[in-house]
Amino acid sequence: MRMKAAVLYEVQQPMVIEEIELDPPKAGEVMIKMAATGVCHSDVHYFTGHMPREKPIILGHEGAGVVTEVGAGVTSVAQGDHVVLTFLPSCGRCRWCHTGHPNMCDLGAKLRTGKMLDGTSRMRRASDGLEINNLLLISTYAEYSVCPEDSVLKVEKHLPLEKICLLGCGFTTGFGAATNAIHIRPGETVTVVGCGGLGLAAIQGAKLSGAGKIIAVDIHEEKLTMARKFGATHAIQNRHDADAIIKEIEEITWGVGTDYSMEFVGADQTDETADIAFRAIRKGGTMLMVGVGMVEKKTFPITPADLTHWQKTVQGVLFGDAQFRSDIPRYIGLYEQGKIDLDGMVTRELGLDDINGAFQDVLAGNKVARQVIRF
Ligand SMILES: [Zn+2]
Ligand SMILES: [Zn+2]
Repeated sequence: MRMKAAVLYEVQQPMVIEEIELDPPKAGEVMIKMAATGVCHSDVHYFTGHMPREKPIILGHEGAGVVTEVGAGVTSVAQGDHVVLTFLPSCGRCRWCHTGHPNMCDLGAKLRTGKMLDGTSRMRRASDGLEINNLLLISTYAEYSVCPEDSVLKVEKHLPLEKICLLGCGFTTGFGAATNAIHIRPGETVTVVGCGGLGLAAIQGAKLSGAGKIIAVDIHEEKLTMARKFGATHAIQNRHDADAIIKEIEEITWGVGTDYSMEFVGADQTDETADIAFRAIRKGGTMLMVGVGMVEKKTFPITPADLTHWQKTVQGVLFGDAQFRSDIPRYIGLYEQGKIDLDGMVTRELGLDDINGAFQDVLAGNKVARQVIRF
């Protein structure tokens, strides 16, 4: 079938909206009519080249839509079901899926190929048949997606797809970091470095866990205003003076530092942001590294002596250490009870034709928490 999609041919060049020929789903795959997809900063890392991928490629890795067709052997969803698409599939059979960490499913090893799990492609340029790579098996910047059954989760039909699409990556990554990877006890303190979509979700998770002080750090004043709205008790503007930021965190925490910190920036800024996050934690504290995009980078700004003498822990977290088949329904429940705010995370909705402008707004850094493309 034919569909419209946004194709990236070269890094940092505008994506081209054009007709793509999409094959029907093969065994174990489903076809989804996309309803909505979020613009995540990770997509921008693929766009800028911080995270290299084979091109041409259709980006987009958090979405929601309606199943239009299922391949042979598909049992968990049927035509007409509403689903959330997640960027990390879970096979339910490997060691990691079976030990409570489906975010580390062995299928993850196949995500960099740009092909489906069987090594072939479902997308070609309509004009000449040029094969198009997929992103993380789901490529959501398109009117339809053919993806593995393992990448989708059925949800109730009354839910707003343009809001719960955020659960496929950003919200779950941030909220899960704060509520799965660490276990904040009431009154404990947290520093959140980077207050985009992930950081704001983490702040919601910290607040709901009963954190006493939630200290938000960001370059942009606008992001700090959003951070306060979602539950940050303190906001510190990063003016590229790490010593001054740490001094302020020490003052807020009576000279101790926070129990936890979370870094959500990644890319080429970690020399500064991971340094702040590491120094922000107290003796015996834990820092989570959540930001991505530094695949070429070999250094990490940690003083080994401080790691030892202060007995600090630095932990990486992927997709919020989430078990998406049980965590996403849980988050939907919290959303319906008004305990988490997805609506407020969506700064604006736009159409697929606006995608290049949306990426520029993410790069500008100050304007948006999350933008959602509706189809
Ligand atoms: Zn993402
Ligand atoms: Zn698995």
